[in-house]
Amino acid sequence: MVDFALDETQELIIKTAREFGQEVLQPAEVALDRIADPEEVYKSKLFRETLAKAYELGFHKMSLPEEYGGLQLDTQTTGMVWEELGRWGPGFAASLVSAATVPRLITFLAPGNQELIDRFVIPFCQDEKGEHMSAWCSSEPEVGSDGKNYTDKKIRHYTTATRTEKGYKINGAKSDFISNGGIASVYLVFACVDSSQGICGSGAFIIPADAPGVSHGKPLDKIGLRTLNQAAIFFDDVEIDESYVLFPHGEGYPMLHNSIITVGNLGVGYLAVGLMRAALEDALVHSRERIQGGKPIIEHQVIADKLFRTHMAIESARALLWKGSWLSKISFPGDLKTSLAAKVYATDQAVEHTCQMVQVLGGYGISKEYTLEKYTRDAKLLKIMDGTNETLLLKAATLL
Ligand SMILES: Cc1cc2nc3c(=O)[nH]c(=O)nc-3n(C[C@H](O)[C@H](O)[C@H](O)COP(=O)(O)OP(=O)(O)OC[C@H]3O[C@@H](n4cnc5c(N)ncnc54)[C@H](O)[C@@H]3O)c2cc1C
Repeated sequence: MVDFALDETQELIIKTAREFGQEVLQPAEVALDRIADPEEVYKSKLFRETLAKAYELGFHKMSLPEEYGGLQLDTQTTGMVWEELGRWGPGFAASLVSAATVPRLITFLAPGNQELIDRFVIPFCQDEKGEHMSAWCSSEPEVGSDGKNYTDKKIRHYTTATRTEKGYKINGAKSDFISNGGIASVYLVFACVDSSQGICGSGAFIIPADAPGVSHGKPLDKIGLRTLNQAAIFFDDVEIDESYVLFPHGEGYPMLHNSIITVGNLGVGYLAVGLMRAALEDALVHSRERIQGGKPIIEHQVIADKLFRTHMAIESARALLWKGSWLSKISFPGDLKTSLAAKVYATDQAVEHTCQMVQVLGGYGISKEYTLEKYTRDAKLLKIMDGTNETLLLKAATLL
């Protein structure tokens, strides 16, 4: 039977997320969005303190197993929390979505590797300051959408992993777009071991950010999600031990990459629903107060139509995301086709409807005094994050 009722745990954690979002996340997100220099944002006390509070409440470790100190919440529950955090602080929420990548993958792919568990999983779960954070690094200056092309053997990662006596030597650069790139403590890096196999010739390597030879670029200056740090990462003869190979190159590569985008795209979709909710809730307040034509504008049919269409988009996007999360819960990582459909739909709707809600506010919608214009800027990035909607659609269509 299909059941939309929330259980006690879900109600409690969503309430916690809402209170944290309203009281802490949104004021910080809005204030930091207005700082022109991104370096100032990530160095600021406000950024660090806000991240620390999110860690204190455990939002970074929702999906990690209890045995290591995580909250072990299922993908539906974590999705509901991402929606709530996305409602108040989409930039911080996007950062938290990526933060758990390395510990989470270690628990799935290398549960017997005690060194990795002790170094990256347990300290991450114990962290209450926001000091342990992952970034996953596939994109490169020459490899954007091509990172999902597993068939054309001419396409490959240019970051290389060369065999050494004890493990591998990594050289190359990852693009400016790596989420948490400038603030992560550990990276999951895709690097080419055998160029004759194209993208499938890449293995997945765990590289600590403080390893000799690792550096990062300046934070990307961008139109939205300005509290999501994005930066390039450089590897110059970085030596790593054999035990830091999380996944070998070869035929298994599409399985690993598809798993990451199956789960990751659900997270992006939930942030989009959160943003649409933010826009609708703000527009509802305004349209009940603003009098034009002798009555509150919500009583004009054209405005009411816009508001209800946004409500429909939220409900339908969320339903599709819940289905994707349910599929992920019953058989991890879930169904790629459903996750991609949910991400593409939710983020397309978010761009459309955050813009429509600006229209509902008229001139006030474009004023920085209101947060609506920010939602439209934030939403735009979601259509590119974890793959452009165009290329994700092309990929999903092959699965029909
Ligand atoms: C907010 C955000 C967070 C991100 N976080 C990460 C991260 O943590 N790690 C990471 O590795 N990357 C990350 N990225 C990078 C992201 O994965 C890439 O931006 C994305 O894959 C697109 O690559 P590109 O920007 O190089 O665009 P391109 O690949 O150059 O695409 C340009 C345009 O061409 C279209 N296009 C490209 N190829 C085709 C094709 N074959 N057929 C039809 N149309 C095509 C695209 O749809 C797009 O419109 C992030 C990006 C954003 C915006």
